[in-house]
Amino acid sequence: MADQQPLDASKLTCTYTSNPQEVPSKAALRNGSETICTDHMITASWKAGAGWSAPELKPFGPLGLLPSASCLHYAYECFEGLKAYRGEDGKLRMFRTDRNTRRFLMSAGRISLPQFDPDELEKLIHKLVSVEGSKWLPQDRAGDFLYVRPTMIGTDSQLGVTTPREALLYIIIGYTPRVDTPVGGKRLLTSPDDMVRSWVGGFGYAKVGANYGPSVLANQEAIRQGYHQILWLYGTEGFCTEAGGSNFFVLWKRKDGKKELMTAPLDDQLILDGVTRRSCIELARERLKDEIEVTERKFTIEDLQEAAAENRLIESFAAGTAVSFDTSSGMILDADDSKWFITPISQIHHRGKDINIPTGPDGRPAEITGKIKGWLGDMMYGRAQHEWVTEI
Ligand code: PMP
Repeated sequence: MADQQPLDASKLTCTYTSNPQEVPSKAALRNGSETICTDHMITASWKAGAGWSAPELKPFGPLGLLPSASCLHYAYECFEGLKAYRGEDGKLRMFRTDRNTRRFLMSAGRISLPQFDPDELEKLIHKLVSVEGSKWLPQDRAGDFLYVRPTMIGTDSQLGVTTPREALLYIIIGYTPRVDTPVGGKRLLTSPDDMVRSWVGGFGYAKVGANYGPSVLANQEAIRQGYHQILWLYGTEGFCTEAGGSNFFVLWKRKDGKKELMTAPLDDQLILDGVTRRSCIELARERLKDEIEVTERKFTIEDLQEAAAENRLIESFAAGTAVSFDTSSGMILDADDSKWFITPISQIHHRGKDINIPTGPDGRPAEITGKIKGWLGDMMYGRAQHEWVTEI
């Protein structure tokens, strides 16, 4: 293994497009295809025995894959989602890229895809953002973002289920026009009794494609019924896990009178270790310690019903980085109001009954949600200096 070439960002070669796209208008995107990628991508391929090829920055375009490629048959695919932010000072910033690259490494390991040095991947991500940033996120788009999608797939022609012997790592950037998102708290529908997003011993904690496609059926039903997202419950107890593609937080007053901000734990491997989740927990533990206890622990939908009946629910929010905007319904599919990471939740519908949760005026964030959202936004958009932020 020692002679395998490591992933090495210093070996990057660059070939720029001779056919740059025009940045599409908002109207063109809404009416047309939803996902537009920027002009360039970075790729690096891996072969068992040889290791990683020199990464290449090149024009965005199709991949050559055989119909027998292992990713197409056995879901050898994992990905990441993170954003580059244009600050009001005109600078481009990224937030905790190192957390995403490490999570990507973990996801790759879970599906037998090759390992790499996450710091090298971070350099490649930052390079692609620096190449695309000025055109796709110009300085007059202060307050907006680009969505970066590192991906790895098994590429070898392999009809037997075995460890992939060839893989491709690539980074693309999704362009999102400035969207005016509907203000208001999001409404969640609890998952149907016959579906779970993840299970103990499974892979719900990894960001692998196989976790996402199968969740869409439930999500579509939530949208059909007028909700924004599914609140995924687990087990006969109905443990609250995640809200669609976001982590789920509840601030309540416990029976002992103490205020507690709680979110599902990582230890049973049911949920994704969200970068936003982690950041919310760390910030709240540091800055709100005198008023609130912050816990990662199991809680059930019945706990929330009981608390609602006793007026002990204070706030709730979903936390996560999202790109998707459902053009047909005009609803955000993922918990993000296009600029930020934190979305207030105003209602949960469970088996015919509503749980109502206080929000600020017009469904805007209430006090604690607003504080956390503000702290994160200040870092991302350069209004506050923090070690989690890298200027590109
Ligand atoms: N849970 C799931 C299932 C997700 O896909 C995501 C990312 N969209 C999150 C939580 C939030 O993670 P992050 O804060 O790292 O974006």
